[in-house]
Amino acid sequence: MDRREMLGTIGLGAAGLLGLAGRQEDASAAQYAQATKGLPALKITDVKAIVTAPQGIRLCVVKVETSEPGLYGLGCATFNQRTLPVVSAVNEYLKPFAQGRDADNIEDMWQNAYTSSYWRNGPVLNNALSGLDQALWDIKGKRANMPVYQLLGGKCRFAVDCYTHCGGGTLAQIEQSVRQAMDRGFRHIRIQRGGYGSPHLSKQADFKEAGFGASVDSNMAVRPYVKGTIEMFEHIRSTCGDDVELLHDIHERIPPIEAINLVKRLEACRPYFIEDPFSPEDIGYFKLLRQQTCVPIAMGELFNNPHEWVGLMSERLIDFIRVHISQIGGLSVARKIAALGEWFNVRSAWHGPGDVSPVGHAANAHLDLAIWNFGIQEAVHFNEQTREVFPGAPTVENGYMHINEAPGWGVDINETLAAQFPLPEHPGYWNPVRRPDGTAVRP
Ligand code: MG
Repeated sequence: MDRREMLGTIGLGAAGLLGLAGRQEDASAAQYAQATKGLPALKITDVKAIVTAPQGIRLCVVKVETSEPGLYGLGCATFNQRTLPVVSAVNEYLKPFAQGRDADNIEDMWQNAYTSSYWRNGPVLNNALSGLDQALWDIKGKRANMPVYQLLGGKCRFAVDCYTHCGGGTLAQIEQSVRQAMDRGFRHIRIQRGGYGSPHLSKQADFKEAGFGASVDSNMAVRPYVKGTIEMFEHIRSTCGDDVELLHDIHERIPPIEAINLVKRLEACRPYFIEDPFSPEDIGYFKLLRQQTCVPIAMGELFNNPHEWVGLMSERLIDFIRVHISQIGGLSVARKIAALGEWFNVRSAWHGPGDVSPVGHAANAHLDLAIWNFGIQEAVHFNEQTREVFPGAPTVENGYMHINEAPGWGVDINETLAAQFPLPEHPGYWNPVRRPDGTAVRP
């Protein structure tokens, strides 16, 4: 008996015991039943995208139904700026691809769905893939009668420490906003002076006077933003004390050397982290930044390819992983990025604004609970309608996010109610931001 025959005999042993030997398909069924500890095979019967906007933000979740009546899963596929192409990628491509396949083999599904378009990555395909992937984790948890964090190894902490957003047009408004957040129990607060790049501080929009661009385009000059941000940090640090952790998002809107200048000058105010100092096209600047300052850096919100983190982590150039989990392809890949981060002591800071669905926030929180190198979680406020559409959505109290302990993500969707909140008329794209002379600013 050669090695292959011997392995075949061992493999069919279980089938023989069950009286199923003889027919290849029976042997396969027995092996499968043994591998799944006797659970019946679970096939994917339907995959569909559901869109809703109970908070005015375009949310997209994927529902995967299975051959077991009533057993389904939900996954976040929210790409607010391009919702409809994600719906198409789910309904017209992933659905026929996944129907009839095993719901149990999540990693296998991820790998094959990822390459099913041959050309891969990008926010549309990754978000669609995330919807499918997270829904399969939800199903796995429901099948095991466990919350997903248990499948990931259990809890490393009792709840998820969060940061919230504070801002305002003036220093007094920002200070008041920070004090209110501290009163609500937040220990970590992101401060922004107005919108990204503090456009209200930029007075002269020369391009508008010259008739260049469109009336909806906004203006952002570099100098007022840099000066205003330093003023803001100094004011909040001196008035709100040294204990509160302060965060800020540059949002890639200034030239790299100006970002280095800004981050250096913020060092005395001890930021918890500064986010996205450079656009993905400028990651070569991280080495120079590291040589200049020890301010912790968060990066990665715009990355498309999971491999984009490898160099930044292995060279110890960043401190926090900034990832919109659905944008990168779902939980299966996010947990690998987290594991890579652990090797280099880079901590997590999953993207968690309003344009992540409650299902996506639950996925963030389950992963936060289960990984050792958790850093901080961006918190969100769900309005009443959102909580009714998504029963079981995570809650935030005293600056901590809590999940419920229901199997899977613990979040459901009321599809009838979801349909009552259609997508807003505006398709959701961002209008241009320009320098005073009209040059496009790359966010
Ligand atoms: Mg950001």
